[in-house]
Amino acid sequence: VAKEQGDGLYHFYDSLIENQREENMRLENELKAALLEGQFKLYYQPKIDASSGEVIGAEALIRWLHPEYGMVSPAKFIPLAENSGVILDIDEWVLQEACRQNKIWQLEGMPRFPVAVNISARHFYQSNLIPTITRILHETGLEPQYLLLEITEGTLIRNVEYGVRMMEDLKQMGIHISMDDFGTGYSSLSQLDRLPISEMKLDRSFIQGITEDSRKSSIVRAVIELGHHMDLRVVAEGIESPDELKYLTDLECDQFQGYLFSKPLPELEFSRFVLRWDGSSMPADGPASAG
Ligand code: C2E
Ligand code: MG
Ligand code: MG
Ligand code: MG
Repeated sequence: VAKEQGDGLYHFYDSLIENQREENMRLENELKAALLEGQFKLYYQPKIDASSGEVIGAEALIRWLHPEYGMVSPAKFIPLAENSGVILDIDEWVLQEACRQNKIWQLEGMPRFPVAVNISARHFYQSNLIPTITRILHETGLEPQYLLLEITEGTLIRNVEYGVRMMEDLKQMGIHISMDDFGTGYSSLSQLDRLPISEMKLDRSFIQGITEDSRKSSIVRAVIELGHHMDLRVVAEGIESPDELKYLTDLECDQFQGYLFSKPLPELEFSRFVLRWDGSSMPADGPASAG
C-alpha cells in the first residue's frame, strides 16, 4: 500500500510539473503571438530635471493590450517572459520601437532627450546585444547619446566581470547606463566604483513615505551623497506628492519621475505633455500648480 501511495504521489508531482510546463509554453506562445499581432504598446513617462524643471528624458514602459484581459501590466508578464527566450524578442521590439519613436520626436522638432529602455538580465548577457543595438541605431537613425539603458542592480550578480565589460563596450559606443531599482537588489556597493554608469535610480520603495520615515530618508540622503561623490546623477522614481518632491529637492536629487508629474503616456499624449509642461512651476512650489 505504501508503495502504491508513493507512486501516486510521484504521479501527482509529475502532473503538477507537466502542468507548469504546459502553462509556461502556453504563455510563451501567447507572448510570441502578441508580438506578431501588435498587441504590445510602449508608454512613456517623463523624467524631470531638478534644476531647470524641464523634461529631460522619457522612460519607455511596455504595455500588453490583451484582446480578452485588457491592459496587462509588465510587472505580471515580464517576469514570466524572462523564464523563456521570448523576453529577447520583446526587449528587441522595445528597443526598436523606443529608438524609432525618439527619432520621430526629434524630427518633429521636440526638445532632444534620451529615451530610457529597460533591459532584462537575460538580454544583457546575450552576446548579440551590442550588434543588435548597433543595427537598431543604424536603422532608426537615432544617435547613441539619445538612448539610455536601464539595468537593475541584480543583473550584475550573474557575472560581474562580463557585466562590467559589456557596460564599458556600451559606453564606448556612446550609450549611457542607469542602475535601476537601486537599493533593492543584491548590493553592488562593493562594485560600484568599477561600474561605468551615468546614473542611479532610487527605487520607489525608498521614496514612498520618505517624509515620515527617518530610516528611509537617511538611506536616500546617503545614496545621493554617494552618487554625487562618484559623479553620478541620482534619479528618484515614484514621486507622488509635492511633499516627497520638496524633500528630494532639498536632498539635491538630480532628476525626478513619478505620477506627481505624469503617469506613463502613449506617444501622442507624451508629446502633448512635453509641449504643455511649464517647468518654472514645479509642483513643489505650491499645490495649485500640481495639475
Ligand atoms: P521600473 O523600470 O522600475 O519602472 C518603474 C515602474 O514604476 C513602472 O511600472 C512605472 O509605471 C511605475 N511608476 C512610475 N511612477 C510611479 C508612481 O509615482 N507611483 C507608482 N505607484 N508607480 C509608478 P510598470 O510600467 O508597471 O513597469 C514595471 C516594471 O516592469 C518596470 O520597473 C520594469 O522592471 C519592467 N518593465 C517595464 N517595461 C519593460 C520593458 O519594456 N522591458 C523590460 N525588460 N522590462 C520592462
Ligand atoms: Mg526602469
Ligand atoms: Mg525602476
Ligand atoms: Mg522600481
